[in-house]
Amino acid sequence: MTARVIDGKAIAEGLRSRVTAEVARLGREQGLTPGLAVVLVGSNPASSVYVGSKEKQTAAAGMRSIPHRLTETTSEHDLLALIARLNADREVHGILVQLPLPPQIDSARVISAVDPRKDVDGFHPINAGRLATGLPALVPCTPLGSIMLAKSVMPSLAGCEAVVIGRSNIVGKPLAQLLLAENATVTIAHSRTRDLPAVCRRADLLFAAVGRAEMVRGSWIKPGAVVIDVGINRVTDAEGKGRLLGDVALAEAAEVAGAITPVPGGVGPMTIASLLVNSVRAACALEGIAAPDL
Ligand code: NAP
Repeated sequence: MTARVIDGKAIAEGLRSRVTAEVARLGREQGLTPGLAVVLVGSNPASSVYVGSKEKQTAAAGMRSIPHRLTETTSEHDLLALIARLNADREVHGILVQLPLPPQIDSARVISAVDPRKDVDGFHPINAGRLATGLPALVPCTPLGSIMLAKSVMPSLAGCEAVVIGRSNIVGKPLAQLLLAENATVTIAHSRTRDLPAVCRRADLLFAAVGRAEMVRGSWIKPGAVVIDVGINRVTDAEGKGRLLGDVALAEAAEVAGAITPVPGGVGPMTIASLLVNSVRAACALEGIAAPDL
């Protein structure tokens, strides 16, 4: 079998154009321009690239992008003071603090300081708790985008066996909550899971969010399964050239799976598109306007 390749780039483009149209309508009908503040502390090269793309796509969708660049030596006190100002600013509807933060800053404290209504990353414990208890919440962007990709080939996830490898607060756990909300039967696997290949072979829908290049082999996949590869691993090939690999061995897995996301061009583009969706949702909720169905 040769798997259908799920084109995350094209699906993300479609989502971004729906967001752009809705932002234009909100401006016209409600006089609302969603504003997203993006805070980068230090100059981690990967973070700088991500933040640059987020700002560019926010502006391209017609929203206000409000950049804040702080030096590597910024104190936790100063970062918390900036967040307090952004929380109080009526023009700012979403606040994103790019992770990782330098070691002198406690990430958990910073995440908890963001107004949960402006928490477009969905990392605040209140949003995590709301998601877990089935209340409306701002949901982390990568899990949100990953579910959209799964549903592009499996419109109903009800009753399917879903396996998520990885239990981080930013990917694995919220992904499992979203799958439960879709009525999937969910298994969360992690580094202590016994016989991971056998657990994966049960999955009609397999998500890999591990951070280990090509760990998931073709032999781990149930024939016809849908495979969503969240991993982004930077590796250097034999010629010394850098490239990105997923957590799934793509060529092998595509021989067995029914559908699979590539890396790059799968989950990655959906993450930023989902951030734009969250920014529109946050702005509408703050202004007491019904959020568009995106
Ligand atoms: P993380 O916080 O490092 O979590 C990794 C998870 O994988 C942990 O739960 C860990 O288990 C599990 N794990 C590690 N080694 C394992 C093994 N040998 N067998 C089974 N499970 C294992 O990483 P993350 O932030 O969730 O990110 C995961 C991947 O997604 C990374 O490649 C990251 O770059 C990528 N990512 C992509 C996007 C995107 O936009 N596409 C966004 C975020 C992250 P324990 O809990 O037991 O340690």
